[in-house]
Amino acid sequence: MTARHKPFLPAVLGGLVVIAVVAAWAEERTDSQRPGADLNAFVKECARARAANGKVQVVRWFSWEYTIASNIEEYEGNREQLEQEIRYLRPYIICMVMRKPVGTSHGVALDEADVRRAAKVLDRHGRAVAPLDQVPPEVADYLARLREAIGRVAMAAQYVFLVFPRQDVDGNVIVDEQRRDKLTVVLQAADGYPEFRAEFRTPFDAASPPIKCPSCADDVSRKWSYCAWCGVKLPASADDAAATPPK
Ligand SMILES: [Zn+2]
Repeated sequence: MTARHKPFLPAVLGGLVVIAVVAAWAEERTDSQRPGADLNAFVKECARARAANGKVQVVRWFSWEYTIASNIEEYEGNREQLEQEIRYLRPYIICMVMRKPVGTSHGVALDEADVRRAAKVLDRHGRAVAPLDQVPPEVADYLARLREAIGRVAMAAQYVFLVFPRQDVDGNVIVDEQRRDKLTVVLQAADGYPEFRAEFRTPFDAASPPIKCPSCADDVSRKWSYCAWCGVKLPASADDAAATPPK
């Protein structure tokens, strides 16, 4: 089982990442071209952009759930096996960040070191967590494949990959993608770029079907605390209730 999957996975991860990344840029894709039902929606849920002061800033989060979703269709195994294969990514939060003047199509980007210095994620106490300087070789290999795949898309060479620890200094997970939670990525003000706070809410709609509002029975996102239709406060979902809420 392992022997069959080992040589297969790098090609799969590379290939499917290409599909998913291209999907983010291609507005005109049709349903029949999509490798998985909600991948395009997933890409959008994992991306935040801001244009202000003549500068554009983009943060894309390669979340664990997105990585699973963008590879599972072509993977010759079940989710558990795929999670096992890429478990080396589990301890990290992987983001791709861009800062550039509005209207420039290529070549103008902040120095990678400047982006690294400016980028932080916030832990549950609002403390800034810096990206790692060193990552294990298999994570570096994965990022190299990701970079190569993204490099095939125009404009994408200006992105900087950042790897943050998934846990804070106290050992608490910074974001739990399975539950109602939030990841905040901060690009601090620097070199004429205003501060950009990219907030990502979980669980992802693309990865979890809507639940029914107990009051109005309409579909509500699992990431909502209040029903957007009738305004009632929504209970934590069944699996949230069963687990210890994150501190
Ligand atoms: Zn409602």
